[in-house]
Amino acid sequence: MFFRLTNPLAFSYFCLMNMEALYQVYLEHPEVQTDTRKIKEGELFFALKGPNFNGNRFAQQAIDAGAAKVIIDEAAYEIAGKTILVPDVLQALQQLAAWHRARFSFPVLAITGSNGKTTTKELVHAVLSTTYKTYTTEGNLNNHIGVPLTLLKIKNDAQLAVIEMGANHLEEIKSYCTIARPTHGLITNAGKAHLEGFGSIEGVKKGKGELYDFLRERGDGTALVMWDYDYLRDMSRGIAHIIRYGTAEADVVGDAVERNGFLAAELVRPFVMQISTRLVGDYNLPNVLAAITAGIHFNVPAEKIKGAIEGYIPSNSRSQLLEKGTNRIILDAYNANPSSMKLAIGNLAKMEGDKKILVLGAMAEMGAATAAEHQHIVELIGQHSWSGVLLVGKPFEPYKDLFHYFESSVQAAEWLSAYKPEHALLLVKGSRSTQMEKVLEAL
Ligand code: ATP
Ligand code: MG
Repeated sequence: MFFRLTNPLAFSYFCLMNMEALYQVYLEHPEVQTDTRKIKEGELFFALKGPNFNGNRFAQQAIDAGAAKVIIDEAAYEIAGKTILVPDVLQALQQLAAWHRARFSFPVLAITGSNGKTTTKELVHAVLSTTYKTYTTEGNLNNHIGVPLTLLKIKNDAQLAVIEMGANHLEEIKSYCTIARPTHGLITNAGKAHLEGFGSIEGVKKGKGELYDFLRERGDGTALVMWDYDYLRDMSRGIAHIIRYGTAEADVVGDAVERNGFLAAELVRPFVMQISTRLVGDYNLPNVLAAITAGIHFNVPAEKIKGAIEGYIPSNSRSQLLEKGTNRIILDAYNANPSSMKLAIGNLAKMEGDKKILVLGAMAEMGAATAAEHQHIVELIGQHSWSGVLLVGKPFEPYKDLFHYFESSVQAAEWLSAYKPEHALLLVKGSRSTQMEKVLEAL
């Protein structure tokens, strides 16, 4: 989604005159809400607009539901003493968040990248919150609304903040950095994701690199950099403080081993430590190393780093290992793109087990690259041997003579419940829209 641009002059005039006043209102009512269905007593409701709705229309309903004040941008919906009229509600929300942020002096770590942002954020948060009052993005609220909402949740007791930033087009991370003003930054990776909006892999790097640009420009920024990736080494050049993590030649060095299907990290530098995880796939190693690095950087004791990572259990169908009957299932149905698909298939190929089944859903948001990227996945599948391959979704249709093809995950589920696999290891992965988790019902 792209920002709506309103008259910037009108807005900055409003800001100068009224942002302080709006901030006072926020300080009195620091619980911010943007969803009328969730309003609780005393909240400050921001009447955002979307492609199919106009929050202004819900001003009265929000008041009835207990909202303390409603921020609107259409005079027609004014309610005396209850609404605050601004030129643009979304910009007011963002400006308010920036205003709030300007009052913090503690470190703010921003995390972006193509894959693994939420996992990394949650691991980093688990580690840092053993020792500091750490605020972080809830779930996946990483966009132009989620980033300001996350900042506005931060209270006076904060010692650290970890903010996830997602992007599918250029200038997006830059705009989030302007609001969140990170002191620290971490790019998980830059891969083939959201090609539709970024145009190319170079576009992806440029877009994610806006976080490094911000850190470089602020002069005193710190980047936690995955040193195995040449492109991140290059992109991070010139940032004042760089802390390197990776599998060799870095400040924090560790490797992946598999233990009962789960990833374990063997840390060798700056100290030796074995850390088991509840995550599947060695593609999670960088996420774990990132959390260890953040912990070490902020002086979290080693035992606490280990305990936090070992205790983290992923949710939301992100790389979960499940057991159903005699089968083991890697459920990774939260999302998919060429980079994460490739890693997940490679990981399954490496895992122990005689009977391995791929159940893959199509990858969305690939734009013009859709056909080619699905062909690559099919080629990759062909490089290993499998007991079964089920493909779901239109972009896979050209390969219906090679593999089992289904239009929907429900149909794949029906096929699986007739086939009844036993003692199998299945990878279930696809873009959110393919709803691959429905396959579980068949097992
Ligand atoms: P979103 O763009 O939806 O916010 P995200 O970047 O937050 O996604 P996660 O939710 O952490 O990513 O993970 C989604 C999926 O990406 C995982 O289930 C896994 O398949 C894959 N993944 C996780 N970490 C990595 C990584 N370091 N490299 C490549 N793929 C990864
Ligand atoms: Mg995420």
